[in-house]
Amino acid sequence: MARLTFLGAAGTVTGSKYLVEAGGKRLLVDCGLFQGEKELRLRNWAALPVDPKTIDWVMLTHAHIDHTGYLPRLVAAGFRGPIFANPATCELTRILLADSAHLQEEDAEHAAYKGYSKHAPPLPLYTAEDAEAALRLLREIPRSEPFRISPEFSVRGYDAGHIVGSASLELAVTENGRTTTVVFSGDIGRYDQPILNNPRTPPRADTLLCESTYGDREHPAGSVSDALAELINRVARRRGAVVIPAFAVGRVQTLLYLIRQLELAGRIPQLPTFVDSPMAITATELYLAHREDHSLEFTREEQNNGDPLDTHDVRMTRTVEESKGINDVACCLILSASGMATGGRVLHHLVRRLPDARNAVLLAGFQAAGTRGRQLAEGAKMVKIYGEFVPVRAEIVELHQLSAHAGQSELLRWLNGLESPPKRTFLVHGEPPGLNALAGLIRQRKNWNVEIARYAQTVELA
Ligand SMILES: [Zn+2]
Repeated sequence: MARLTFLGAAGTVTGSKYLVEAGGKRLLVDCGLFQGEKELRLRNWAALPVDPKTIDWVMLTHAHIDHTGYLPRLVAAGFRGPIFANPATCELTRILLADSAHLQEEDAEHAAYKGYSKHAPPLPLYTAEDAEAALRLLREIPRSEPFRISPEFSVRGYDAGHIVGSASLELAVTENGRTTTVVFSGDIGRYDQPILNNPRTPPRADTLLCESTYGDREHPAGSVSDALAELINRVARRRGAVVIPAFAVGRVQTLLYLIRQLELAGRIPQLPTFVDSPMAITATELYLAHREDHSLEFTREEQNNGDPLDTHDVRMTRTVEESKGINDVACCLILSASGMATGGRVLHHLVRRLPDARNAVLLAGFQAAGTRGRQLAEGAKMVKIYGEFVPVRAEIVELHQLSAHAGQSELLRWLNGLESPPKRTFLVHGEPPGLNALAGLIRQRKNWNVEIARYAQTVELA
């Protein structure tokens, strides 16, 4: 019988990997890196429970590193591909994996220099060459038409509204002449947001895997523009800077869009806006290029007013010198990756700006347990960066409205899109409070057979 094994994002939000087996063939859906808690991160270093040489194909829901970042390890351990994804996801994955390798190398170098690593000498999880080897295996498939991978597997994507190219996948699995349908929600985005189309639910599933990131929470109802305007005005009055650790893909573009709208409406002063992340700059270009992802509002804005992601004084800093130059600007907005402050250039800005009470740090997305972003959100008075303690005196603000993930009622709205109840529903990609709350709600409101997926659990696909 066809089988499914949860190799990641089970009881946690990172490391998405689901192995589907049928007719002696193996398909891995998503191949993400574990992030956050050390116990999880160590899994990136351990051997995968399944020999990568025996996996025939990989299929990606979207390009985020917690869904693609393990690919270089998979390939280094003998996987020979292909790796399927739609055109936008292929393009983004190229950018994100190259960047991820760069970060791994940089972190290892930094650790070597500062002498705080436990490896001697510190090793990167993978190198730029490893990432390139993985990227050579990428194969574009149609965005929304069915695509036959093999006699056993056929897949079809539905817009997930999470980031550019993001999809929910409907996978038809055939064994011994019997076909069963597995739906992978991927990361579900939000409804009626700037830039991207609304999420679309695949119509039917025998087995459903649904993400649960915000299963226990609603996003605040208030207007995100109002909250952003208040913050920027408050910080500008005290001549400080707003540092925004932002996911380079998606959040940076949404923020640029909102900042531009506030500037056009005269609701905030026109401050220098630094996009300090080479990857965010490239991703911004990609967002503008992939029109099939654009919502009507975004298209209209572009037709009427030109580039909707171009603020009055936006400065894209690609080089390290340009990045260091930001230190001389007291009052400004700094958008820089990574989004949970686990790495990237934003760390330098945090070291510099956190100790000064004039500044603010805006946390604009989900902050996983064990990350610096979570520590800041929970009111830490001190955070460790590059092996040193940095005092936190800056104002810390969370804006959950900016999340790229559906809130609780949006998850239910997405589930309501299924024409009939799945035989089995597994909740994945959530931390225990979110998983438990959503499971309870689904049982209570929909009376579905719902389970919380466990790491390394294997289930038969009926
Ligand atoms: Zn994602």
